Amino acid sequence: MQDQHWSTLVGEQRRRGLSRLRFSAFVEEQFRQHYAGLSYPKVRPLLVLAALGVIVITGLGVAEHSVSAVTATFGLAVMMPLLMATLIASYQPERHLIYQHLLAVSALCVGLIVTSVTLRAGLHGTPYFFGAEIAWIFTVWAILGLRFWHAAAISCTISIAYAWGLAHWNFGSQEALFTTVMLLGANGIGALACFEFEAICRRSFIESRRLNDLAERDGLTGLYNRRAYNNYMERIWRQSRRDEGQLTIMLIDIDHFKAFNDFYGHQAGDDALKRVAEVIAMGAQRPLDFAARFGGEEFALVLYGPVNEFGRDLPGQIRQRIEELGIANARSSAHSCLTVSIGVAIVMPGAERSLAGAIQMADEALYQAKEEGRNRVVVKESRLTHIETGRFRASRRAVG
Ligand code: GH3
Ligand code: MG
Ligand code: MG
Repeated sequence: MQDQHWSTLVGEQRRRGLSRLRFSAFVEEQFRQHYAGLSYPKVRPLLVLAALGVIVITGLGVAEHSVSAVTATFGLAVMMPLLMATLIASYQPERHLIYQHLLAVSALCVGLIVTSVTLRAGLHGTPYFFGAEIAWIFTVWAILGLRFWHAAAISCTISIAYAWGLAHWNFGSQEALFTTVMLLGANGIGALACFEFEAICRRSFIESRRLNDLAERDGLTGLYNRRAYNNYMERIWRQSRRDEGQLTIMLIDIDHFKAFNDFYGHQAGDDALKRVAEVIAMGAQRPLDFAARFGGEEFALVLYGPVNEFGRDLPGQIRQRIEELGIANARSSAHSCLTVSIGVAIVMPGAERSLAGAIQMADEALYQAKEEGRNRVVVKESRLTHIETGRFRASRRAVG
């Protein structure tokens, strides 16, 4: 799970993302997917219309002998597959990058065809087609949902092609001046609208992510809260089942924390919770690992995969690091410093196992760690018939 604090990212992303229309790294990737999603409903009917247009125009042109074999072949062998591929990609959100590139190429091709038709019509004394040129420029900027820089590249290419045609076929200077001014105006207005729209979309995207994130975070420690934990556990359980992978659920509870609070005060208790949470958060290092504040002074660390990957004894390390924080707890029977007890359940989610059962297993391990004197780790593994107790020693056991 992407363990990024959106609230802390927002300031930087706003500055970079809005002035240059580009967020950094994974945020940009997520935004592009979201932005492509906004354009699907508008673009799909246009793609169908464009495909029908290609069929009708090519068919009529061939029947009336007004379209050359090369143009007809281009229409049917290049444009049709391109438009259809874009349409199909619009139904596959995970292919949003391919979709955006296909859409850009389609928009460019249609634009160049419109330009060629407009110039030819102009040569034959029919200047009214110029309206289609302007309409397509606006469509590229404001209707297709292309990102600003894609739209800019396409509109500029189409406009340059038109200007080249004007010069090449020696259009009258008055007509050339008029159409050039109109093209510049359309591009200017379109660019402003497109920039503004994308900036607004970026702003609302980052804000909504920040709000979602706030709703999923615990205010004191910054870890995920119980609500996020519940949602995440459901998802990761299903995924682990599909992948036939191992899942490690660690429940971590601070020892004698009530006594600590009573003795040192609530503020000192809050500070201790934050420091303990920092150590636990460091345990969630792989992309799908997840650390949450389960409630009060209880935490959960869920690892997608073996607990002792790379030979590390993670639960043991966490217990030790918290002890080494050296937060005095004069009222503890377990140690002179603040300590935690950790219950670990290692499970292979399968048809015969339930998520509730796995959590209960971790809970039982935690209870046992408390019973046996606290400041220790108890591991329960679903495929073992006996239950391991005492300090967790990864080096002596082959887990995973
Ligand atoms: P055990 O070793 O058996 O876990 O004993 P314990 O005292 O840690 O457990 P108990 O559940 O009796 O007490 C939990 C205490 O955690 C109660 C409350 O004072 C404290 N606590 C819970 N949430 C917070 C919080 O947000 N801030 C502070 N400062 N204390 C909290
Ligand atoms: Mg406790
Ligand atoms: Mg507790």
